[in-house]
Amino acid sequence: AKKLGKDQFAVFEPAMRESFQKHLQMEADLRRAVLRHEFELRFQPIVRLRTEEISGLEALVRWQHPERGMIPPMEFIPLAEETGMIVPIGEWVLREACRQAARWNAQRADGQKPLTVSVNLSAVQLERADLPQLVSSALAESGLPARCLVIELTESLLVDHRPETLDRLREIKALGVRLAIDDFGTGYSSLAYLRNFPVDIIKIDKSFVDDIGDLPAAAALTLGIIQLGQALQLSTVAEGIEHIGQLSELTDGNCELGQGYYFAEPLTAEAMDDLLFPS
Ligand code: C2E
Ligand code: CA
Ligand code: CA
Ligand code: CA
Repeated sequence: AKKLGKDQFAVFEPAMRESFQKHLQMEADLRRAVLRHEFELRFQPIVRLRTEEISGLEALVRWQHPERGMIPPMEFIPLAEETGMIVPIGEWVLREACRQAARWNAQRADGQKPLTVSVNLSAVQLERADLPQLVSSALAESGLPARCLVIELTESLLVDHRPETLDRLREIKALGVRLAIDDFGTGYSSLAYLRNFPVDIIKIDKSFVDDIGDLPAAAALTLGIIQLGQALQLSTVAEGIEHIGQLSELTDGNCELGQGYYFAEPLTAEAMDDLLFPS
């Protein structure tokens, strides 16, 4: 048994070393990416379900790696958080999202409601005392009104928050910015956040929307979340709408807003220009 253990170790070790080296390489690449601005934003429309008009956009980051091509956020955000690089990346995302939204709003016809832009925030960013100043300077330099900015927070971020987190969120809210709980329903005590955090918007997780037509329980839970939102006077956004059947269930249930491939995938700024201002 001892010998087997040793052999296993010998087999295991190169694999471990390889994965460690990959990790180091990725970290070096990410540092370079921050210096060379290798990030891009995509914008996914958030649609008013009753009328199908675009009410806002969610900004989603991408890494354009020089050799590996487009890297989705799930493959680098965890490393960016671990290394603190999410701070400069997130700062760029926020400023760029505000800048683009202000530009689109300036081009919209008189009488059209201004678009909102939603930006995802990592827990690491909320640990920084200067976050409220960053938000306020991103608004000031872009000219975007505070009511047009939505900050999206995940439940996991709110689970083990420090006491300062709540103060920081209140400071940001005092600017007029709205807060959304992302992936709502996937945490284990979602309801507690609604009581403790000053949120304005609930984003119903895609997993509920996925099963809406197949599982009566998923449909009942989704409708329950929508009604909860209404009772608390919060907006509800359904995520990951892919089929018309899901759309009609959600519309019948009075869900206010939605996003998903049924309407549009996350688009480049150029593609968003064409969608908003068809020539
Ligand atoms: P999220 O905030 O829940 O964003 C929604 C994700 O669902 C996006 O994936 C979007 O492309 C995808 N999606 C939208 N509609 C549909 C649909 O109908 N079907 C399917 N299958 N997927 C849909 P993406 O862009 O890969 O982002 C993944 C996650 O990465 C985001 O989840 C968010 O947690 C994180 N993320 C993205 N951008 C940022 C950022 O700038 N900062 C931080 N901290 N996190 C970000
Ligand atoms: Ca989000
Ligand atoms: Ca989400
Ligand atoms: Ca998610």
